[in-house]
Amino acid sequence: MNNITLIAGARPNFIKIAPIVHALKAQQISYRLVHTGQHFDEKMSYTFFRQLNIPEPDINLNCGGGSQAEQTAAIMMAFEKELIANPTDLVLVVGDVTSTMACSIVAKKLHTKVAHVEAGIRSYDMGMPEEINRLVTDAITDYFFTTTVWASENLRKAGVAEDKIFFVGNVMIDTLLSNRSKFVQPGFWNALNLVTKKYFVLTLHRPANVDQVENLVVLLNEITNNVNSLPVLFPIHPRTAKVLQESGFSNANLHIIEPLGYLEFNYLVENALCVITDSGGITEETTVMGIPCMTLRDNTERPETIELGTNELLGTNPKAIQPALEILFSNQWKKGSIPEKWDGKAAERIVKLLAELP
Ligand code: UDP
Repeated sequence: MNNITLIAGARPNFIKIAPIVHALKAQQISYRLVHTGQHFDEKMSYTFFRQLNIPEPDINLNCGGGSQAEQTAAIMMAFEKELIANPTDLVLVVGDVTSTMACSIVAKKLHTKVAHVEAGIRSYDMGMPEEINRLVTDAITDYFFTTTVWASENLRKAGVAEDKIFFVGNVMIDTLLSNRSKFVQPGFWNALNLVTKKYFVLTLHRPANVDQVENLVVLLNEITNNVNSLPVLFPIHPRTAKVLQESGFSNANLHIIEPLGYLEFNYLVENALCVITDSGGITEETTVMGIPCMTLRDNTERPETIELGTNELLGTNPKAIQPALEILFSNQWKKGSIPEKWDGKAAERIVKLLAELP
């Protein structure tokens, strides 16, 4: 393969494609970068391009906003035109967002090979749009690049041929390791009198936690009442901001801030006492940095962060939060280890394999 189209649409995608772009450049493999426009503003998109040295996309399809179906349809229509105008040997998609699924369907229908980075992870929770995106994408993928042995095994169980599965490691961790020395203290650090290991980081954006305003308020009350008065930093996802605004909730311990750049966010995480989240990618980053992590979900597609890492699944019942915080405050939180091949070289492995493909 020497002509590849890369797809990126939403925040976690940008973090995942950065090392792939750098490895393709190093190998002098030509590529076209398509931004679908799913996330489109400074805070959810452009800042990542700058901080992670991702070149300007060759095209932006500007398909932001709308319902799941509207966005899927808009991306498919725009990407079909783009791919017909600029044919390629392979379309490479990452992660599990709407753009991942929409572009892989378009590619396959235009008889173009599809590679999926972060293939095979499964929460088995069909209530999550991401799970549907993963299943559809993996049903039509030609080359499966996996982050763990668990993910490879899920694919085997689904009948994927062994010679299509490549266990390469985790590109999100490539980005973490190559940027760790560049993390930046956020501007509000001094103003909020933050002290290393004496604050929490909170992120919430899954529909199950944030779409019902009452649920969200119960969760926030339970957290802020049990953190021994330590500050809770809450960089708020646009989806959550809308709901929280309606609720009028506020608490002296809770600092609601705009979404942060990658370098500022991971500075906060690396120096935090603990992270409370419903994100997937963040549980991988806390595992590698050895930061205690509590996940407010009933399931995870990343079992390695629990089996090996520092993550615990608390579920969506707010009553689980207080006992978990007690364990943390009594210094009993598990230490964890780093999963195999999360070593900063996943993108190199992917690009080497791509170069060898017929
Ligand atoms: N992240 C960030 N700024 C923030 C919150 C998250 O840079 O304010 C990064 C985080 O380090 C991780 C990624 O965004 O790499 C996770 O994105 P998100 O939680 O939106 O997606 P998920 O992993 O749940 O798919």
